[in-house]
Amino acid sequence: MHHTRRDFITTAGTMATTLALPNWMRAADKHHKKRHIVTLSFDDGFKKSSIKTAEIYEKYELSACINVVASAHMKEFRPPDYPSVLRGDFGLWNELKSRGHEVMPHSYKHANLRQLSFEEARGLIRRCLDVFAKEFKGFDAKKAIYNFAYNASTPELERWLPTQVRAFRTGGGAINRWPHKGQTKLTCTSFGPGNCEHAIDREIDKLLALESGWMIFNTHGLDDEGWGPIRATYLDRLLQRLVEIESVDVLPAGVALLKYAK
Ligand SMILES: [Zn+2]
Repeated sequence: MHHTRRDFITTAGTMATTLALPNWMRAADKHHKKRHIVTLSFDDGFKKSSIKTAEIYEKYELSACINVVASAHMKEFRPPDYPSVLRGDFGLWNELKSRGHEVMPHSYKHANLRQLSFEEARGLIRRCLDVFAKEFKGFDAKKAIYNFAYNASTPELERWLPTQVRAFRTGGGAINRWPHKGQTKLTCTSFGPGNCEHAIDREIDKLLALESGWMIFNTHGLDDEGWGPIRATYLDRLLQRLVEIESVDVLPAGVALLKYAK
């Protein structure tokens, strides 16, 4: 039987109507297509980099994942590294949140908690969460991800933290299982002090080779800011590539848990 192009379009249109799924099935199907989550977890809250990172994510209608040091805007803050790089403050963090980005705690003063007693470390984490509660609009610790400075946690802190926050991020490999109920430990990798783009590309290749998974890569600043930076142009191209891959969902860590850990 000979079909004209017009016939075909009409027939295809009718079939689509006939086969239309109820909304709830379409929604489930849409979620099912997502099998790989990519989280770039930007630490340290450098002002210029955070603004630029948010702008690049917005270009693709995505939310950035930015983790900041609670006391970085205070006079007594002594940055352990990169003292000349300007940090953002809660004015900026509240603005970025209102634009749909995720801002999470990355320590009180960037101490390495492995070098402190459990009590001292716990005290600093509490101070960090107190500053967030006071300065960050709508902060809910029960939905927060605590991002360890230097990804340096201890078993004792890992046991205690889930009583304070939704989950914590520490070292231990970039590939995590698909988000699941009760998940409190997220692991990540990072690379530095030089440019970390190749390391990110390698982890993304590993992720995409899996049936499903969640990659969390701990990044820092853009261009010349901070430890293990990436170029702004690289981030732009990377997001452009990732949004084209049907199986990939680019999400901040907290949103990934809210959306999928059910
Ligand atoms: Zn850091």
